[in-house]
Amino acid sequence: MTNTLYDALIAPHAGNTQPFMACDDGRVISYAGFVERVAQLAHVLHDAGVQPGDRILVQAPKCADTIALYGAAIQAGAVYLPLNTAYTQAEITYFATDATPQLIICDAADVDQFTAGFDLPVLTIAGDGSGTLAQAADAAPTTFATAARGPEDLAALLYTSGTTGRSKGAMLSHKNLLSNARSLVDLWEISANDHLIHALPIFHTHGLFVAMNTSLLAGAQVRLMQSFSTGAVIDAMPQATLLMGVPTFYTRLLDDPRLTRELCADMRLFISGSAPLLAETHTAFEQRSGHRILERYGMTETNMITSNPYAGDRIAGTVGFALPGTEVIITDPDSGAQLPAGEIGMIEVRGDNVFQGYLNMPEKTREELRESGFFITGDLGIAADDGRISIVGRQKDLIISGGYNIYPKEIEDVINDVDGVLESAVFGVPHPDFGESVLAAVVLEPQAQVTDDAIMAQVAPKLARFKHPRRYIMRDALPRNTMGKVQKNLLRDEYGV
Ligand code: ATP
Ligand code: MG
Repeated sequence: MTNTLYDALIAPHAGNTQPFMACDDGRVISYAGFVERVAQLAHVLHDAGVQPGDRILVQAPKCADTIALYGAAIQAGAVYLPLNTAYTQAEITYFATDATPQLIICDAADVDQFTAGFDLPVLTIAGDGSGTLAQAADAAPTTFATAARGPEDLAALLYTSGTTGRSKGAMLSHKNLLSNARSLVDLWEISANDHLIHALPIFHTHGLFVAMNTSLLAGAQVRLMQSFSTGAVIDAMPQATLLMGVPTFYTRLLDDPRLTRELCADMRLFISGSAPLLAETHTAFEQRSGHRILERYGMTETNMITSNPYAGDRIAGTVGFALPGTEVIITDPDSGAQLPAGEIGMIEVRGDNVFQGYLNMPEKTREELRESGFFITGDLGIAADDGRISIVGRQKDLIISGGYNIYPKEIEDVINDVDGVLESAVFGVPHPDFGESVLAAVVLEPQAQVTDDAIMAQVAPKLARFKHPRRYIMRDALPRNTMGKVQKNLLRDEYGV
C-alpha cells in the first residue's frame, strides 16, 4: 500500500531512536516513538469511524500528540483540518458547516461547546496531552495498516488566515505538501543534524507544514514550544541550529539584551516569513547576531513560493527567487499578460506546490486558479532582471486615489525612515471626490517624541503630492493577527467614514 506523505515523512523513521520532539515539560519523543504514537492515534481515528477522505477538525493545544495526530490523519488517509485556537464558537460553526468533518478533536476546556454545538463524535486533548484522545490511543496497538493515498489525494484542508476577508478552505494534496517540503529541505540544507526551535502555532502553513514537514523529511530535532517566549527561545538557542519565525519574533528578540553574537554562535539559519520583514529589523538583527535573516514568501494556497538563497545574497526587502520546481511570473492585473522585469504587477505561481482549489467555492477557484495552472496570489510584486522578487503589497491594500495607483509600502518605507518611528501602516479610506484617500497609522519607538506634523513635514518632500497621507494617526500598536500580519481591513473599518 502506498501513501505519498506517510511513506516519505513518517515510515522511514520506524526504529529510528534519534530524538524528534523535545517538549516544554522536558519530555523527549524519539522518531521511533513518534511513528508508534501516530499508529496508535490512527487506530483512534479509525475506531471513531474516520474513513479515507474524511475530514477531521482539530482545534487543539500545541503539544506532541497534536503533531502525532496530524501524522495519524495522514496514515489513516484522512484530511487534516487544523483551526486557529483563538476562533470562537461562532467562527468554528462556519468552518464545521463548510468542511463537514467526521470527527472533532478539541481542547478539553472547550468540550462542552463542541458536544453541544455539533452532532459529531468529539475527543479531547488538554495542554499537557491528557484527555480522551490520549486515553484511547494509549490502549491502541502501535502499528496500523496505512491507508492507500496517492499524490493527488487530499492531505489537509487549511483555511487562510482571513486577513482580507472570510477564511477560505484551501484543499492541499499529498503532492502539494511533499513537493514543497522537498524543495525547502534542499534549499535550506536541512539535515538530521539540525535542531529547530519551533515556537510557531501549528494550525498555520508556517508552523505545521514549513516547520514540521521539513523536519520530518530531514530527520531533524524539534524543540517544540507551546508558544513564543523571548526567554525560552534565547535559552534554547545554544543547543539549536535553526529558527523559523514571523517578523515579530525577530523584533522581540532584538528587544532583549541577551541577543548577542555569542548566543547565536552555533545557529546555522534564521528564517522569516508570513508577513513582511522590515529592512530595519533585518539590518539590526545582523548587527546584533552576526546572522542575515533569510526571508521567504508563501501562502496557505501555494505553500512556499520564493525564498532568498541559502548560499547567495539574502537581501532585505526581497523575498528571493522562485523555489526550484515553482514558476513565478508577474502579470498585468487587468489583462493577465506577463510583464517584463522591473514592472509592478500581480504575482502568479505554478507548480506542484499549488493547491487544488477552495472547498465549496468553485467560482472563486475559477477566478484565482487559471486553467494554465497559474494561481493568482493577490499579492503585487516586482521581479528584478535576475528573477529576484520583491513584494509590493496585497492588491486589496492598493489605494486608488484620483485615478492614481498608490502602493502603501512605498509610503510606509518613507515614514519608517523618520527618526522615532517604529512602524507604520498606510491604507485607503473612501473619499467622495478621489475614490479613496490615504491615511497612515504610525507607531513610535518607546520614549520617542515625534508629532504627526513633524512626520508629515519629513515625508512630504520625498513623495509626490497625491501620495501624501491626509492624516497621521498615532497608535500604540498596529492591529495584527496571530501570524503577525497587519490587519489593514480593521484600520479601514475603524477610520473609514
Ligand atoms: P486571506 O487570504 O484569508 O485574506 P492571508 O492571505 O493573510 O488571509 P495566509 O495564506 O496565511 O492568509 O497568508 C498569505 C499571505 O501572507 C501572502 O499572500 C502574503 O500577502 C503574506 N506573506 C507571506 N510571506 C510574506 C513575506 N515574506 N513578505 C510579505 N508578505 C508575506
Ligand atoms: Mg490570502
